[in-house]
Amino acid sequence: MTRHAIVTGGSRGIGLAIARRLVADGLDVSIVGRDAARLQQATAALGGGVASAVVDVTDAAAVDQVFRSLIERRGRLDVLVNNAGAAESAPFEKTGADLWRRMLEVNLDSVFHCIRAASPSLLASTEARVVNIASTAGQTGYAYVAAYCAAKHGVVGLTRALAREWAGRPITVNAVCPGYTDTDIVRESVDRIRRKTGRSADEALATLTGGNPQQRLIHPDEVAEAVSWLCRPESRSVTGQTISIAGGELA
Ligand code: NDP
Repeated sequence: MTRHAIVTGGSRGIGLAIARRLVADGLDVSIVGRDAARLQQATAALGGGVASAVVDVTDAAAVDQVFRSLIERRGRLDVLVNNAGAAESAPFEKTGADLWRRMLEVNLDSVFHCIRAASPSLLASTEARVVNIASTAGQTGYAYVAAYCAAKHGVVGLTRALAREWAGRPITVNAVCPGYTDTDIVRESVDRIRRKTGRSADEALATLTGGNPQQRLIHPDEVAEAVSWLCRPESRSVTGQTISIAGGELA
């Protein structure tokens, strides 16, 4: 029986690379996101067998409904990749309650909603996986992203707790923690730094890659490779881990 994976935020960036990789690994893949046109583009690029559905992962009721229909369509669910997320930055003094809530809702509450909606089916699978795309910001602190860091640390905490709680079941729960990765999130950060500091694009990018000992951006395919490995049956003893894909940043 072909395994079924849902990848949130699978329409672009890291999520699209993960979806592509899991399709290559022979899984049935469903992707979700908010933008219907982007999802359509992605499913066309990924090939015929990929399903997609529009959902805002911060909306628990909508996640329940959409996951139910995707799972009914395939008759099962074996892999959940919680990848959808967003990063906004501000000095702490300018971090209002709105920004704080937005970051927690999209990066942490969403992971809770998706795992809750998926767990009955995942726990019925004989080889289930939850992979949460956290961040090195879930492992260490960074200036100007307190809300994002708090949310991603929360994802890591949830990952560890569930790995222990479900250790007696055929399911693993892990977090993959990329450093700065070449996607829209980084392009938006470079633009923001340029606007605020007047630096050139290369200088702005260098402030982001400077923390990576390899002095470069991570490629989305490198993150996808780690997810693919965690989803293999041979990785069933790896659970509750945070795997940094960050060029040695946290070494
Ligand atoms: P992108 O901005 O390129 O893509 C984000 C994806 O998430 C899109 O598919 C977007 O689709 C979806 N998404 C965002 N908000 C929602 C929402 N409320 N509901 C449903 N889908 C949503 O981001 P990346 O690929 O860079 O990031 C993916 C993950 O990796 C995130 O969790 C991010 O925090 C994490 N990460 C990224 C790093 C980086 O440097 N790029 C570094 C470390 C971690 P749509 O807009 O259509 O909804």
